Amino acid sequence: TENVIASPARTRAILAAHGVMPKKSLGQNFLVDRRVLERIVAAAELDRETAVLEIGPGVGALTEFLARAAGKVVAVELDRRLLPVLAETLAPYPHVHVVHGDFLELDLPAFFAEHFAGWTKRAVVANLPYYVTTPILFKLIEARDEVPLCVLMVQKEVAARLAAQPGTKDYGALTIAVQFYAEVDYVMTVPKHAFVPRPQVDSAVVRIRRRPAPLAAVPDERLFFRVVRAAFSQRRKTILNNLAHNLEKGGSRAAARALLEASGIDPARRAETLSIAEFARLTQRLHEWTT
Ligand code: SAM
Repeated sequence: TENVIASPARTRAILAAHGVMPKKSLGQNFLVDRRVLERIVAAAELDRETAVLEIGPGVGALTEFLARAAGKVVAVELDRRLLPVLAETLAPYPHVHVVHGDFLELDLPAFFAEHFAGWTKRAVVANLPYYVTTPILFKLIEARDEVPLCVLMVQKEVAARLAAQPGTKDYGALTIAVQFYAEVDYVMTVPKHAFVPRPQVDSAVVRIRRRPAPLAAVPDERLFFRVVRAAFSQRRKTILNNLAHNLEKGGSRAAARALLEASGIDPARRAETLSIAEFARLTQRLHEWTT
């Protein structure tokens, strides 16, 4: 077998040779299972016409597999200590560029214009640092015009929430924030022993594919997400109670009841049973009544 970066022995040797101790605070759990990497690359549907943005290359385990499949890879790493490591491990791949910085601070449209001009097929692929999963997801949603496809390793619980269906315990505001714009596939569960050092939690890979248009037509997307957040503010309460107490413009209990009834939604239901289309209908009525 080949001497890929993604093996426990090679990863430990690379870290030792550079005197680098993985930092928990930066979510540094490096992938050492090449079968998982092969599945990630397959899920990302890469080819030589595709340019990939990787968040957090670490010592280059995933980057190497991306480099073998894609036409260009740009990897953004926050930890300065890993730059000389990456310069060495990725030396065989001249179409990989490592950029030092905080992904959350990037101006993504400008970044894509700079690095991916002329590359029409694009993907974001990452084994995410889990301490910043949610802000990274929201940044990617915001930049959806630039990013048609993301394949991400996240905590298993987060993967379940991203891919959830209505009527399940995992379905919530995060599900809707992502599924409104994208289709989510649960690709695979990844056990702790696929990483060095081992994380505390199990992981999973999800694929997030932007839809041609949002899942439902709403008159005002900010209002839609305000309704969703209000509806889920206390999971065990009915949609009526949540809207009555948490939606400023919904006003009184009577107004919230009227709004739900006009939208054809039983006020005794809980938010987790409502489809995205039903939230869109609620938003539509609320918009009509308040403008
Ligand atoms: N891709 C490598 C792998 O799969 O083995 C490393 C994944 S490790 C879970 C997460 C990586 O993200 C670490 O290398 C960490 O230093 C980096 N990182 C953490 N916060 C970051 C941020 N805000 N921006 C860019 N990279 C970050």
